[in-house]
Amino acid sequence: MQRRQAEPYKIKVVEPIAVTTPQHRLRAIAEAGYNSFLLRSEDVYIDLLTDSGTSAMSDNQWAGMMLGDEAYAGSRNFYALQEAVRDIYGYPHVIPTHQGRGAEHIISQILIRPGDYVPGNMYFTTTRAHQERAGGTFVDVVIPEAHDPQNRHPFKGNVHLGKLRELVDRVGADRIPYLSLAVTVNMAGGQPVSLDNMRQVSAFCRERGIRIMCDATRCAENAYFIKEREAGQADRPCRDILKEMLSYTDGCTMSGKKDPLVNIGGFLATREFDVYQKATQLVVLFEGMPSYGGLAGRDMEAMARGIREMVDDDYLAWRIGQVRYLGQQLLEAGVPIVEPIGGHAVYLDARSFLPHIEQAQYPAQALAAALYLDSGVRAMERGNVSAGRRPDGSEYFPRLEMVRLTIPRRVYTDRHMDVVADSVMTLHRRRDRIQGLNMIYEPPTLRFFTARFEPLGGMLAAD
Ligand SMILES: *Cc1c(COP(=O)(O)O)cnc(C)c1O
Repeated sequence: MQRRQAEPYKIKVVEPIAVTTPQHRLRAIAEAGYNSFLLRSEDVYIDLLTDSGTSAMSDNQWAGMMLGDEAYAGSRNFYALQEAVRDIYGYPHVIPTHQGRGAEHIISQILIRPGDYVPGNMYFTTTRAHQERAGGTFVDVVIPEAHDPQNRHPFKGNVHLGKLRELVDRVGADRIPYLSLAVTVNMAGGQPVSLDNMRQVSAFCRERGIRIMCDATRCAENAYFIKEREAGQADRPCRDILKEMLSYTDGCTMSGKKDPLVNIGGFLATREFDVYQKATQLVVLFEGMPSYGGLAGRDMEAMARGIREMVDDDYLAWRIGQVRYLGQQLLEAGVPIVEPIGGHAVYLDARSFLPHIEQAQYPAQALAAALYLDSGVRAMERGNVSAGRRPDGSEYFPRLEMVRLTIPRRVYTDRHMDVVADSVMTLHRRRDRIQGLNMIYEPPTLRFFTARFEPLGGMLAAD
């Protein structure tokens, strides 16, 4: 493997983590209903459930926390955040929210009318739930390569212009409040969108009078992939690439818990003053004053500083490199993973991993539970359980049935990645012994968070 830079950080504070026994883990996963979301974190050794809110903040961010201005209105930290958003993202108007879904709620309520269609480059759980709650219908317009875990297209997050045009011609532009454009695409495996695609999509949408709302949650990681893969971009700083990417959009929803390196926070940003003004009316009802939106002053300061740190080229090269370091080990051992390796996670292809388990028996959920049992590593199901049910009650049965090993930012060392790789490879060798699951409790929305299961046949893995 190519030699890569070690962490562009050194350690100042450490947090001990639990080393558990197999008996302990067996009890813990049974109590959690075989759902890794329901495990207690103190029972987890290496926590790869999510990269959301799990980043390690820098000393500069912690220092900023002490400068929290906790005024009810007009906190200086809000102005620091506004300036960071204008500098790095280029949107003039920003409203903080408690996290990304707070912004999704507000924009969906403002722009979507019942009966509307919202095209997007693959669904995201909370994003689509808010679109549907506002009366919209999500329409997938990602390129077909995105649904094929083995296809090595360099920009699998791209929008398929033909599909988008077909939708516009069928329902009319006035039934489409906006295109929801995610960079990177989480559910496709952290796959990027190219600058070229964004340019073309923007030209088309402008011509048809359709707004583009970006899900900019992992936009800095997307910028790094453009620098690495797109012709003519190698010498540009990621910061410049990001600014150009977002220049093709009209606004964004943002989870600060991902790229911006904070533990809580998000925002809604827009170029349109009237959208901003409507958002200020809703934010006071659901989040807080437009100058804090559910966040403490110190949280806004940490996010303002994180936004400036997230576009550092050395950081991004190391970050994406660490995800790749884990993925490469699995590839070399013949473990089926989504390719190319994405920005924030390595996705195990659970259908190929466990071909003997039908999708109705939740193979990805079973694999995540087996991984925890083997080594105390917590991963997340991103398959049939996450996809949920259609409005008519039937299951989606998505083509991608995956287990996501999500790497928190600046938290774990490569040695931790080695332990994870070793455990996944062990399970792969013994894969025929892993059994499917039966869902015994299913909540009505976003079921993956709290659903409970039991192993079919009484045991998850027979020894
Ligand atoms: C996490 C996430 C969201 C929602 O953000 P929260 O901060 O968890 O509410 C939206 N879109 C994408 C792509 C995400 O990964």
